[in-house]
Amino acid sequence: MKKHNFSAGPCILPQEVIIKASEAVMDFNGLGLSLIEISHRSKDFVAVMDKARSLALELLDLEGKGYQALFLQGGASMEFLMVAYNLLEKKAGYLNTGTWADKALKEAKIFGEVIEVGSSKDENFSYIPKGYSIPNDLDYLHLTSNNTIFGTQIKKFPKTEATLVCDMSSDIFSRQLDFSQFDLIYAGAQKNMGPAGTTLVVVKEEILGRVSRKIPSMLDYKVHIEKESMFNTPAVFPVYVSMLTLEWLQKLGGIAAIEEINEKKAQLLYSEIDLNPLFKGYAHKEDRSNMNATFTLAEEKLKDIFEGMCKEAGISGINGHRSVGGYRASMYNALPLESVGTLVDVMSELERKA
Ligand SMILES: *Cc1c(COP(=O)(O)O)cnc(C)c1O
Repeated sequence: MKKHNFSAGPCILPQEVIIKASEAVMDFNGLGLSLIEISHRSKDFVAVMDKARSLALELLDLEGKGYQALFLQGGASMEFLMVAYNLLEKKAGYLNTGTWADKALKEAKIFGEVIEVGSSKDENFSYIPKGYSIPNDLDYLHLTSNNTIFGTQIKKFPKTEATLVCDMSSDIFSRQLDFSQFDLIYAGAQKNMGPAGTTLVVVKEEILGRVSRKIPSMLDYKVHIEKESMFNTPAVFPVYVSMLTLEWLQKLGGIAAIEEINEKKAQLLYSEIDLNPLFKGYAHKEDRSNMNATFTLAEEKLKDIFEGMCKEAGISGINGHRSVGGYRASMYNALPLESVGTLVDVMSELERKA
C-alpha cells in the first residue's frame, strides 16, 4: 500500500514525476542510455538544465526582470555561507526565526558584522517576530520564509530598501508572493521540488560584484551565472527530477493553483487541531505554516494509541523534530488532500475512542 507521506524532507514528490524519473534512469529520451550515464554537456542534458532554469523563473514570475536561476550543490546549508561570501562587506541583518535561520546567521559571522534584527528564541521559535526595525546600513537582510522545524511561516514580508535574501527551502513554489521583492532566494530541492542534491538559487544580477574580497570560483555566483549553472558537473539526476516537478506544477496551473490546494489542506488539519481537545497546536495561530503543521497531544498517555492508529492508516513521517517534540505533519505541494483527510479522520477517531 502507498503510504500517506508527511515527511519533512526529503519528502513526497508527485507520483508521475517518480515514474518519469525512473524511466529516464533506464532509458533517457530513447537514447538507449541512462540519464545518469551520459555527459552533462550532451545536447539532451543541456536542454534539461535550460528548461529547469527557465521554468523556475517563469513560475516565480521573474522572467526578464534581471534574475538568474542556478542549480547548485551543497544544499541550502552551502548558501548560508555563499550568501555572506558574495554579499557581506560590512554588516548584515538576520531575523532569527529558528534552527535554520540561526545556522545561516552563524556562518555569516565569519565574514562580517551580523546583527539579529529580531528573534523568537524566547518562546522556542513558536512565532514570527514583528515590528522590528531594520537599520539602513545593511548589506542585506536575511529571512527564512518558512521554519520547517517549528511550523511557522512569514505571512507579511517587511517593506525595506535593504537587499533582501530569503531561505525558501520549505515553501518555495507553494504560495503566491511578489517574488521581485527579493534579491536572492535559495531553496534546497528536497522539500518542494526534487531529491536532495541540488539547491535552487535565484539571484538578481545587479546585487553581485559589490564585495571587495576574492571569491573562490565554486562559491562565486557570478561564475555559476557565466557558466550557465554548468561550471562543474551539476547534480544531473536531482536537476532532472526538479525539472519534472516544475513541469508538473506548471501543468497544474502554477503557483496560484497549488496555493489553493495547500490552503485547503492546511485549513482541514488546523481546524481539527483547534477543535479536537486531545491536540494542541504549537505555533502561534497567525504565524502557522501551511507547509509544516506542528502539534502535540494533550495527554501523553494517548501516544501509543495515536501512533498505532496512524500506522494502521498508512500515515508516515509525522514525528516532530526533537527541538519541538510532538508531531509535525508536512504538507508539501505533492501531498494530496486525501492524505490530510486520512490524518484528520484518525485524530477525530481518537477523540471518539478516548
Ligand atoms: C532543510 C532546510 C535547510 C537545510 O537544507 P540542506 O539542503 O540540508 O542544507 C535550510 N533551511 C531550511 C528552511 C530548511 O528547511
